[in-house]
Amino acid sequence: MYDRRKIKDIKTNLFHVPLRESLSDAKHGTHTFFELITVTVCLEDGSEGTGYTYTGGVGGRAIYDMVEYDLKPILIGKDGDKVEALWDEMNWKVHYVARGGIASFAISAVDIALWDIRCKNANLPLWKMVGGVNDSTKAYYGGIDLAFSQEKLLDNIKNQLAKGHTAVKIKLGKETLQEDIERVAAVRELLGPEKVFMVDANYSWSVEKAIKAVKALEPYDILWLEEPTIPCDFKGYARIADHSNIGIAMGENLHTIYEHRHAMEIGKVSFIQPDASNIGGITGWIKVAHMAEGFNIPVCTHGMQELHVSLLSGIPNAGYLEVHSFPIDEYTMRPLVLKNGRAISPDVSGTGVEFDWKKLSQYKIEM
Ligand SMILES: [Mg+2]
Repeated sequence: MYDRRKIKDIKTNLFHVPLRESLSDAKHGTHTFFELITVTVCLEDGSEGTGYTYTGGVGGRAIYDMVEYDLKPILIGKDGDKVEALWDEMNWKVHYVARGGIASFAISAVDIALWDIRCKNANLPLWKMVGGVNDSTKAYYGGIDLAFSQEKLLDNIKNQLAKGHTAVKIKLGKETLQEDIERVAAVRELLGPEKVFMVDANYSWSVEKAIKAVKALEPYDILWLEEPTIPCDFKGYARIADHSNIGIAMGENLHTIYEHRHAMEIGKVSFIQPDASNIGGITGWIKVAHMAEGFNIPVCTHGMQELHVSLLSGIPNAGYLEVHSFPIDEYTMRPLVLKNGRAISPDVSGTGVEFDWKKLSQYKIEM
């Protein structure tokens, strides 16, 4: 019987998907497109699942090649139900050359495909498979809006509120802290006292500047300050946290479970933000989420809202889902569903992320 659950084939695709407008933040520069790497795993019995990862425009070919040339050869013929064992094997296979880098993205895409198969086999939606605590989760709009004029920034937020958002995040990291604070004051005024407001500096500040910033941000009722300084400086994060009445958040640039542990244990973050596209897929994401529960820290997410909605819904220590400005969900059969500030999980067996291949095909890169 187990022979029928062996991995028969793996199909990898790379897409360059254009953004409707250029999006900028403090450190990643300007984005005009995002890369989407999809991996479809087929078992001998005909079962099939699709996973994916994404980038801001760099590294997609390397991720594609790692799946095709390093991971696929060790996966073919293996039992596709042994998801955790395959996760471990993939990690150690490429650990020496790619730990926490390209490997974390490539493994994520494969792992999500295996979870898609696992959920379909159990005939359950992902939110139930990872715990079933809830079928919806709190959500916020995450703008990539540093280059927007103040007028455009406010117009954009008005549009998002009209779509049903009750929480928003803006980018910080302008030339001067004063410019940042003026934008924050204008957005808080637009939001009023009730709506939730977060800010994200994309690791553009020194620890000293970040300590100044948290003081200046204090009057504006900010839920969290995200990535104030470089993600590897865990002791620097702790110094900022020690001086701050605002919770500090990070996670999108932490690509191993141990880095997440350091952020919570050494860095004293108040919110942890694992991204299943770069932490080793759903298997890696769950490890971080459970570890965060032990630290009594809510899990928030970064990017790929169409998948994370189910992961956050399912766990007890859910914080906020980021509705990211890379609209991957618009290239699926079920764009994100939002109701009264909450995102609703797809209630179908599998991950609930089924790509619209016809819509995507025009952006396929021939490899
Ligand atoms: Mg961020």
